[in-house]
Amino acid sequence: MGDIFLGKLFGIPFRLHWSWFLAIFLISWTLSLGFFPQTLPEFETNRVMYWSLGILAALGLFLSILLHELGHAFVAKRYGIPVRGIRLFVFGGVAELGSDPKQAFHEILIALGGPAVTVLLIAIFHLALTLVVSITGTEWQLSDGLLTLQGGGPIAAGASALLFYLGMINTLVLFFNLIPAFPLDGGRVLRGILWAVSGSYLNSTRIAGGVGIAFSWLLFLGGFLMMFFGGNLLGGLWLFFLGMFLQNAAHSSIAYAQLQHMFRGVTVADMMRQNPVTVEGGLSLRDVADEYFLRYPYKAYPVVENGQYQGILTLRSLQEMPREQWQTLRANDVVHRGEPLPVIRPNEPMLQALRKLAESGSSRLAVVDNGQLVGLLCGRDVMKLMEIRAGLSMPELENASR
Ligand SMILES: [Zn+2]
Repeated sequence: MGDIFLGKLFGIPFRLHWSWFLAIFLISWTLSLGFFPQTLPEFETNRVMYWSLGILAALGLFLSILLHELGHAFVAKRYGIPVRGIRLFVFGGVAELGSDPKQAFHEILIALGGPAVTVLLIAIFHLALTLVVSITGTEWQLSDGLLTLQGGGPIAAGASALLFYLGMINTLVLFFNLIPAFPLDGGRVLRGILWAVSGSYLNSTRIAGGVGIAFSWLLFLGGFLMMFFGGNLLGGLWLFFLGMFLQNAAHSSIAYAQLQHMFRGVTVADMMRQNPVTVEGGLSLRDVADEYFLRYPYKAYPVVENGQYQGILTLRSLQEMPREQWQTLRANDVVHRGEPLPVIRPNEPMLQALRKLAESGSSRLAVVDNGQLVGLLCGRDVMKLMEIRAGLSMPELENASR
């Protein structure tokens, strides 16, 4: 299921994942049954009030998270890193950055941008709570970590309870995020520090990601204990899935750092197939089938006309054309249907080209220079080379750089 586009703020697109609604429902539900009745016992007949406060609290939490992500996004933008968007989903939010920080120092500051906003929010909620309580004369009592509010009327008491909850939950968010388990903010700070000290981005990612993976196992254990011994099925499940999410993210960050390490300084020209077999755009499909697909072991051919690149003709797109039209249709007619595939330039960094390849969903992309086809980048070649390089990589080699 896709994301819901909310709009743009400061040029940053905001999106909601469907799972966000699940989180809003679960949070407001548990709060309206637990926290608010406990904190505001004098309104025990007013279920509507507990539910309204529950929904407001859930929305307030996500607004806080959104501002936290904006904190990351602002620092990232300051260091010239494009922000592709901010996404809210069941576990909170992410600021999606278009590229990685170039320096350890930037990484640390971007990671701290979010928590800095959260600290500010905690101070604001605390200040507002103090103001509301003292102005309206609401009495509060804190015992065993449980707050109860009395007097001051439903609005003042409700607002106080809400502010108290938001201050508390943001404190929790702050401490959780500062755990040095990658990809949490604390883990990014850890990676930044290790990177600054050792100079090796790959090893720093491996260590911080390793802490992240270890931490996710703790979450699994905590979730398991909560589910089967703590009698909290929902909370346990949530911890379990959060652990899974963090572990996946840690694994893919390590894999990505390895990829980055492997392709450092490698351009498309180094890895493309040079002089691929091409098809002339004016050729009929019948001739293309006979002279190319039945003759060579390739499933796709770049189409050119007067040396200019036109598109890629795949076996599948040929098969989709009715056979009785093969005599009249030209290769050009087929490649100019539908969305054109992105092209890459020979001097483009491999990592960027790989991203384009993955996003295009195609298994190959044409390498084009000034409209002229100069090569073909095939996903399969890249995979093979990675396999070979991984097989040949020795510890000394890996430590040598970055
Ligand atoms: Zn953060």
